[in-house]
Amino acid sequence: MQKGQIRVHTENIFPIIKKFLYSEHEIFLRELISNAVDATQKLRVLANSGVVTGELGSLDIEVKLDPEHRTLTISDRGIGMTAEEVDQYINQVAFSSAEEFLSKYKGNEASIIGHFGLGFYSAFMVSEQVEIITRSYREDAQAVHWICDGSPEYVLEPAERSYRGTDVVLHIHEDNREFLEPERIRQILLKYCRFLPVPIYFEGKQINDTQPIWVKKPTELTSQDYQQFYRELYPHQEPPLFWIHLHVDFPFHLNGVLYFPKITNGFDLQRNKISLYCNQVFVTDEVKDIVPEFLMLLHGVIDSPDIPLNVSRSYLQGDPNVRKINSHITKKVADKLEEIFKQDRKELEEKWEYIGVFVKYGMMTDERFRERAQAFLLMQDAFAASTWYTLAEYREKAAALQTNPDNKLVILYTTDVDHQYSYLQAARERGYIVVKLHSLIDAAFIQAMEDKWEDIIFTRVDADIPERLIHRDEASHSVLTAQQEALLKELLAKEVPNPAYRVELKGLSPETQPIIATRPEMNRRLKEMAAMSGQAANWYGHVPDEVVLTVNTNHPIFQRILEEPNEASQRKMIRNLADLALLSQQMLAGEALNDFIRRSIELMGGERKPSLIVQP
Ligand code: ADP
Repeated sequence: MQKGQIRVHTENIFPIIKKFLYSEHEIFLRELISNAVDATQKLRVLANSGVVTGELGSLDIEVKLDPEHRTLTISDRGIGMTAEEVDQYINQVAFSSAEEFLSKYKGNEASIIGHFGLGFYSAFMVSEQVEIITRSYREDAQAVHWICDGSPEYVLEPAERSYRGTDVVLHIHEDNREFLEPERIRQILLKYCRFLPVPIYFEGKQINDTQPIWVKKPTELTSQDYQQFYRELYPHQEPPLFWIHLHVDFPFHLNGVLYFPKITNGFDLQRNKISLYCNQVFVTDEVKDIVPEFLMLLHGVIDSPDIPLNVSRSYLQGDPNVRKINSHITKKVADKLEEIFKQDRKELEEKWEYIGVFVKYGMMTDERFRERAQAFLLMQDAFAASTWYTLAEYREKAAALQTNPDNKLVILYTTDVDHQYSYLQAARERGYIVVKLHSLIDAAFIQAMEDKWEDIIFTRVDADIPERLIHRDEASHSVLTAQQEALLKELLAKEVPNPAYRVELKGLSPETQPIIATRPEMNRRLKEMAAMSGQAANWYGHVPDEVVLTVNTNHPIFQRILEEPNEASQRKMIRNLADLALLSQQMLAGEALNDFIRRSIELMGGERKPSLIVQP
C-alpha cells in the first residue's frame, strides 16, 4: 500500500473548486464519462492495431446509482490503469492541472463557466470521497484501488479485480444530494451524453445514440433520416423546411446538420437551437460566436474538435478557425439557397414566407451573404400571387415607368393588400408593379437595403397620391377659380382642422378620388420601427401620424358642393369626403366613425325627423 501526498501546493484545493464551479456542478458527469469513452476508444485502437488480442467483451459504459450508500459509479471496460499510471495521470497530471486551472482563473471566475476539460478532479465538486478501482488491459496487470477524500492525501493499494477497465466511485457529498436522484442523473446524461460514440447504460437502458446522423455520410442518409433526427431533437416543432449537411475536413474539422425551421409567428424567433458538440460530447447551446448571427435562427448540431472550447469568449471571436467556420457556414447556406433557386424555384417561392425571414435577416447583418443573396431574394406580386420577381427581374420590368428623377428605381410595395386596395388599384392603373413586403422584418429590411443599394428606394403605395409616387412634382392644373378655391379652403379649415392632417389642394385627374389620405413613407417607417423595437415610448413613438389629405380640386363633386346654398350641408359633405379618405387608411374609429355613419344617412336623406315618430 502506498500513501502519499498529491503534489498540489494549494492546501485546500477542493473547497475552492467547489465554490468556483458552483453553477456548473453537473458537468462532473460529462467529464468522467468522457474519460470512460476515451479509455474505451483507446482500447479499440489497440485492438485494431493488434496490441490487444483476444475477446474484448462488452465495451458498454454503465452508470449506477446506489442511494443507500450514497454512491454514483461510472464503470467502463476501457484500457484501465496500472498503479504507475494512476500515480502519473491522476496524482500528478490531473491534480497539477487542477492547480494550474485555479491559478489561471483566479479572480476571473466568470470565464470558468463553459470551460471544457476540467477533467477528473471535477468529481470533487460533488463528492466527499472518490475511489478508483482499475485494472489495466496489460496481461498480468495488478488491479489497483485509489481513494482520496478531497484533501491532498490519497491512498493507493492493490485490489481484487479480475477484469479490465475502471470503476470511478463517487461518494456524493451531503450538499449534492440531487446527484443521487435517478431523474436528475438521467437528465444530465441526456443533455451531455446523448450522442456519445460508446453505448452508455443507466438503469438498464441505453441512453445514447452512438451514430447520430451528423457522423454519417450524406449519401447514406434519406430525407426521412433527417426528418426523424429533427423530431428527436425538437419534438414540439413543425417539420423543417430543408437542411444542410456540413462536412469539412480542411482546413478544420467540422460536421453538422443545420435545419431551416418553419417560423410561424414572425419575430418570435427561437435562438439557441443549435448545439455545439466536440467529438459527440455536448458542449453548449450558446453558439453565438461560432455561428453567424443571422444563422442563429437555424436549428441543429455542429460538431468540431477544432473549436477551442476552453478559452474565453473574446478569444473565441478572434480565433482564425472560428472565423473560418463562420464563413464556411454562411457560404454553405448561400450555396443551398442558390441551388434551390436554380433547380426548384417553385419550392423556394412556396417556402418564401418562412425562408424570406432568414434571407432578409442575413442580408441585413452579413455583407458576404447579402452579396450572394441578392440573386435569389424574391418579391411577390401584390396582384398575382404566383408571380415572383428577383431584384433583377423587377428592375427589368419596372425600370421604364418607375425610375424617379434621382435616377433611382422605385420599388412600390404594399403591407396589406386588402387595406391598401384602393391605392394598389390606382398604382396598377398607372402600370406600376407593386410587390408584397408584409412580414415583420420587412420594415427594417427596406431601411437597411436602401443604405446598401444606392440606386433603389422603396415606397409604400399609400405614401403619396399616385401621381407623385414616382415623380415628385407633377404639374397640376386646377379647374377651380381662385375665388372657388378660397371658399373650398375655408370649408376645409372648418371641417378638417386637426393639425395632424396636412391638407393640400391639387388639380388631379377628375377620375382620381376627391380626397385621398396618404401617409408619407419616412414618418410612417420611423414610427413602425420604433414600435417594433419596443421603443414606442421614444421620440419617434411620440411623433404624431403624419397624414396628408390631398384634395383633388378637379373632381366634379367640388363644383356641386360649392354650388350648394346651405352651408351646413356643404360642411357635412366636405367632412364626409375627408372621412371617406381616412376610412381608406383605417383611421376612422369610435365616435368619429359613428358620426360619419350618422352623417352619411342624413346626407342620403334618411334623417329621422322628430315629427315623424309615431306616438303610441
Ligand atoms: P484529461 O482527460 O483531460 O486528460 P483527466 O484529469 O480527466 O484529464 O484525466 C487524466 C488522465 O487520467 C487521462 O488522460 C487518462 O490517462 C487517465 N484516466 C482518467 N480516467 C480514466 C479511465 N476511466 N480509464 C483510463 N484512464 C483514465
